Order: sequence, then structure tokens, then C-alpha cells
Amino acid sequence: MVIKPKMRGFICTTAHPLGCAENVRRQVEYAKSNPIQGAPKRVLIIGSSAGYGLACRIAAAFCCSADTIGVFFEREASGSRTATAGWYNSRAFEQLAKEAGLLCESVNGDAFGDEAKQEVIRLIKDKMPGGKVDSIIYSLAAPKRRDPVTGEVYSSVIKPIGGAYQNKTIDFHTGELSEVTIEPAAADEIAQTVKVMGGEDWLLWIKAMSGAGVIEQNAVTVAFSYIGPSLTYPVYKDGTIGKAKEDLEEKSKQITALLSPIGGKAFIAVNKALVTQASSAIPVVPLYISILYKLMKEKGTHEDCIRQMVRMFKDRLYAGKAPVPVDEAGRIRMDDWEMEPSLQEEISRAWSDVNNENTGEYADIEGYRDDFLRLFGFGLSGIDYDVDVKNF
Ligand code: NAD
Repeated sequence: MVIKPKMRGFICTTAHPLGCAENVRRQVEYAKSNPIQGAPKRVLIIGSSAGYGLACRIAAAFCCSADTIGVFFEREASGSRTATAGWYNSRAFEQLAKEAGLLCESVNGDAFGDEAKQEVIRLIKDKMPGGKVDSIIYSLAAPKRRDPVTGEVYSSVIKPIGGAYQNKTIDFHTGELSEVTIEPAAADEIAQTVKVMGGEDWLLWIKAMSGAGVIEQNAVTVAFSYIGPSLTYPVYKDGTIGKAKEDLEEKSKQITALLSPIGGKAFIAVNKALVTQASSAIPVVPLYISILYKLMKEKGTHEDCIRQMVRMFKDRLYAGKAPVPVDEAGRIRMDDWEMEPSLQEEISRAWSDVNNENTGEYADIEGYRDDFLRLFGFGLSGIDYDVDVKNF
């Protein structure tokens, strides 16, 4: 079948196996050129098939020669339907990791459930050297979560709290700017978003693993957050998702307390805004990211997922510095280049000036669109997209 992108709203319903494999290969090459000494050799990544989690898996394996277990929720191909990009990404990763002689196990299932947790614990005991892991990356971005105890399904929403929020937004497919008004969340929507994107499940993972004795002495676990500039506060930091991230931070303290008898520690890393499947669904954010990309590319400080995660491993988590460099609230700040004050001032000015006549001057919409398509394996140089792909 000749595979072309098919858009439905914020998602692309097809993915290209060769393009996804090329995406992974490029990230692997970058990681290989950045070897890290003294880093962990046994890493579990929950949410390992795309975005930041995939980049962490690649950095662990190819900067640090680590054995990895990855957990993700992806769909295989069936009939004329392609697999999801994350499925192709994981297959490509597994092939390269195995060629490099690294242990690489994957669990494709619902990370929120007990089954995936028990399967991972079994894999660690059976396959990981010493039956333990020394690093656990928690990088889930999910629209829904089924509570493993009650079976109730919760949904996350991205909405402001307390009042409606109006601002500029962009349809990155057409480049059209418009005003969007997002109505505030109801109390139940806030609670449900915290259930899905907060830290409860992270804590459940660590409790299950620590109870099973599969976490090594001095292990670290990391989950990701975002803060961003004040212009996106109503829809992010002070909105429903921000509440979930507050819960994540709260749970990081409980996890550190739980791991303290073995010298372990939980970190929140605040990452840069990047084009991923999760972030493209948030109103206002794609326009902010397009302006950010333009300015950061001009300054030479733009990083994609792999560059940022390699920097997190190299200069923060495993820099040989004790303690790990953190901000006043104990968070690892990978958004330091994004939040640089003079850059943020330029973004504010661009934000007030940008309109439908001058988007190209202020915003890298093409870069956004290219990155979005690349998430699904499209638009990569060197790939023949007219070729009939067999066995996708
Ligand atoms: P992503 O959509 O690229 O990847 C999400 C991963 O979660 C995938 O591997 C997917 O398979 C997995 N997943 C989703 N539901 C699952 C389930 N039920 N069971 C198992 N796996 C499941 O997401 P991302 O943008 O890399 O986000 C990861 C984390 O980073 C999130 O906490 C997000 O808030 C945070 N973050 C993202 C950005 C950004 O700009 N993208 C910035 C800062 C922080």
C-alpha cells in the first residue's frame, strides 16, 4: 500500500513505517554521538513509544548502553489500517537495540492497569541483570484512564479554571489565526483530569515495584511537567492540566519518601514545549510553539525531544554532580532555554503583533507542520513516499 498522511482534526490516522524507523534511526545516531559515563544500565520507561519517553529510551540505550523495558499503548496494523506511529517507533527501536546487543523488552498494554505493572515486574525479575532497575521514567500522556480498582473511566480535559479564557490560536494545517474562547472546567472535569494526568498512577507503579523488590538502591524516577509563559497560564499552568501537574509534584514527594530507605529519589523535570501528539491538541499552544521555534532556531538554542533528553541525562541526572541540579522547588529545569527572560520578552512582543497578514514573519508554522507530520513518519528526506509498502 502507498501510505499518505490522513488528517482528522489534531491527529493523523495513518503512519509510515519507514519514516518512523528513519525518525528513530536519526535519534539513535544523535544519542550514539553523546556517550555518557556513570549512567544507569537498567531502565524502565513508561510511555516509551513517542515524544519524551521514546527519546529517554533512546538516550538510555544509546548514550548509556542501558538495557531497557518500555511500556506503551499502541495499535498494530490490521487490514488496510496502518499501525500507530508509536508501534512503528517501538519496532524500529527494538531492532536497533537488539543489533547493538542490548536487552530490550516491550509491554504493549494499558499502563494504568495492574496487568501491565505485574508483567513489567515479572520481566525485571526474569530478564534484567540482578532482577532490578536503577531508573524509572514516567512519561505518559493519555486522554483517559481506567481506575484499576473501581473500573471507572476518567477523561482529561484541557480547560481554564474559574473563568473563560480567550486568546489567539492557529490552525497549523492552514496557517489561519483566529480567536478561541475556552469555557472553564466544571469541578468534576478538574478532578477527572487530575485522575488521568496527575501522579496517582506513578505512585502506584513505584509502590508495586518497591513491594516486589525490583528497584535498585539509589534509583531515580522522573516524571515530566510543563510551566510555560504567563500567556498560556490560563490554559496550562493554572488550568486543569496544571492541577494534574501539581498533583504529580505532590506525588513525587511521596515517592521520594517511599524510596528513601533505599536512597532513591523522585524528580519532576520541567520540559520545553515541543510538537508532540499531546501538545498539538492544546488550543493556543501551537501558536506559542511556532513563535518559540522561530526565535529559538534563530538563536541556535532550539532542541527537539532527543536533544533535550540527552541533555537531561548528561548535564542533570548523570552529570556526576551530587546533588542533581534543581530549582528552588526541587525540579529539574529543562525549560531553562525556553524560559530565558529576553527570549520570553521577544515572544510577548511577537504575540501582540502577530496577525493573519504577518504570521510568516513571527511564527515558524512550516516548522510546526513539518514536525507534526514527522511524528507520524511523513516528510523525512530520503524516504520514497510513493513506494508500495508491503507488510506494514
Ligand atoms: P506523547 O503523546 O508523545 O507520548 C505519550 C506516551 O504515552 C506514548 O508512548 C503512549 O503510547 C503512552 N501511553 C498513553 N496512554 C497509555 C496507556 N494507557 N498505557 C500505556 N502507555 C500509554 O507525549 P509527550 O508529549 O512526550 O508527553 C509525555 C509527558 O511529557 C507528559 O507528562 C507531558 O505532559 C509531558 N510534557 C510534554 C511537553 C510537550 O510539549 N510535549 C512539554 C513538557 C512536558
